[in-house]
Amino acid sequence: MVKNIQHHIGGKLVDGKSGRISPVFNPATGEQSGQVNLANTAQVNEAIAVAKAAAPGWAATTPLRRARILNKFLGIAESRAAELAAVITSEHGKVLSDAMGEVQRGLEVVEFATAAPTLLKSEFTENVGTRVDSYALRQPLGVVAGITPFNFPAMVPMWMFPIALAAGNTFILKPSERDPSASLLLAKWLEEAGLPAGVFNVVHGDKEAVDAILLSPDISAVSFVGSTPIARYIYETGTRTGKRVQALGGAKNHMIIMPDADMDQAVDALMGAAYGSAGERCMAISVAVPVGKKTADTLIAKLEPKIRALKVAPGTDKEAEMGPLVTKQHFDKVKGYIDQGEKEGAKLVVDGRGLKLQGYENGYFLGGTLFDNVTTDMKIYKEEIFGPVLSVVRVEDYNTAAKMINDHEYGNGTAIFTRDGDAAREFAHQIQVGMVGINVPIPVPMAFHSFGGWKASLFGDHHMHGPEGLRFYTKLKTITSRWPTGIRAGAEFVMPTMK
Ligand code: NAD
Repeated sequence: MVKNIQHHIGGKLVDGKSGRISPVFNPATGEQSGQVNLANTAQVNEAIAVAKAAAPGWAATTPLRRARILNKFLGIAESRAAELAAVITSEHGKVLSDAMGEVQRGLEVVEFATAAPTLLKSEFTENVGTRVDSYALRQPLGVVAGITPFNFPAMVPMWMFPIALAAGNTFILKPSERDPSASLLLAKWLEEAGLPAGVFNVVHGDKEAVDAILLSPDISAVSFVGSTPIARYIYETGTRTGKRVQALGGAKNHMIIMPDADMDQAVDALMGAAYGSAGERCMAISVAVPVGKKTADTLIAKLEPKIRALKVAPGTDKEAEMGPLVTKQHFDKVKGYIDQGEKEGAKLVVDGRGLKLQGYENGYFLGGTLFDNVTTDMKIYKEEIFGPVLSVVRVEDYNTAAKMINDHEYGNGTAIFTRDGDAAREFAHQIQVGMVGINVPIPVPMAFHSFGGWKASLFGDHHMHGPEGLRFYTKLKTITSRWPTGIRAGAEFVMPTMK
């Protein structure tokens, strides 16, 4: 029996009206576990109308009350995190401990958003002119939407809605149709926490639902996370229809290993960063750049046995270090890149193809894969693979490594491993990438900082969560006031200046 995955609109689970559905699979077994209803334009518009009707009431709710609801949600989600992690693993495939990590990182944004009364405090200047005061307000935008990818079905929605709600907006979430169930648990817990019906809604769907969001005059802002071609489309279409848009795209993250680096530390870091979550992370390291032949040879010699020893198993196996890929289609795509790398002449040091797990022969498992002698003209270097495939590009010096990163289309994350503070400082200063790690392989900013890449990894002006998130989900109003005092100043025809 496959489960029917419904929409959550106006505080109720509702069936789809389009008659269109999409299958959802358990990636470890290859079996269909569910079918998700895909919303058509009319149903998305219904959800938007519900969110629009709820918007004035929610905007008028005091920030303290909003924060208390989020705080209650935080408590519920923390106490039931294992349930959410199990749902994630069942549809995404990642190992349970990693799913718990994703939930934790998402909940940190909720924690940040519970500071709404403080976050929304504004500036006030007394006497900008004689007896004239000025102050700034940050007001909600109205109805905002989030469109999210498959790889973090709980964390990425939580990058968005906690701050949007804290700021007084109502929200439409369009999760990935590949692992849609986590979003419904989040919706349920928000309502258990006391969020009024209609303030947070989930509509499942594909391009039709996304287009309905982009074209609706009642949506003020769209947050998107996903691949670069779709991010570009979302940004162009959303801004053309007058919306505020932040659209985060794909990545190709490099890690430079300098000759003076602690090699054991660098290798451990690379193992987790390249193969954790089967490489299906936008901050995964997919290119290692050792500087000098000796560094490269040592790196390969230390990496190879560790990759061969990786414990690949269903995400529910407590020993598992890496689970399956999300779908058969994605598995075929990643495998295709390994075929391509071989054809292009890269040296295949560890081949993850052909891995079969007893009892899970139909699962989408791929072993850890390592290519050496990759060059920058190869497709496996230029394109995002989004799988457990690490490419090693050998360079002779730091400047070549840094130039390579700066020349790449993507600019999401990057890292340098070194003991040289001078090199590290230079790297942090001049590298054209949004998030930089110094002896930290996956420099994902904490909730109270903001997350976002540069170049083709982000379209728009605001990064996500932290202070940038608050700016994105509010509009600024500045008020200048003077109260009658009985003193007549007379008419002024020139631009007001401070007298
Ligand atoms: P995706 O672009 O295929 O899908 C993302 C969302 O867009 C989904 O909700 C999907 O339903 C929707 N969508 C897909 N095709 C569409 C179309 N033609 N028109 C309109 N909407 C469409 O991405 P994915 O495969 O789910 O996720 C993986 C990608 O997300 C990778 O490229 C990864 O790097 C990226 N990602 C980036 C970040 C970041 O912070 N920059 C974080 C996580 C994931």
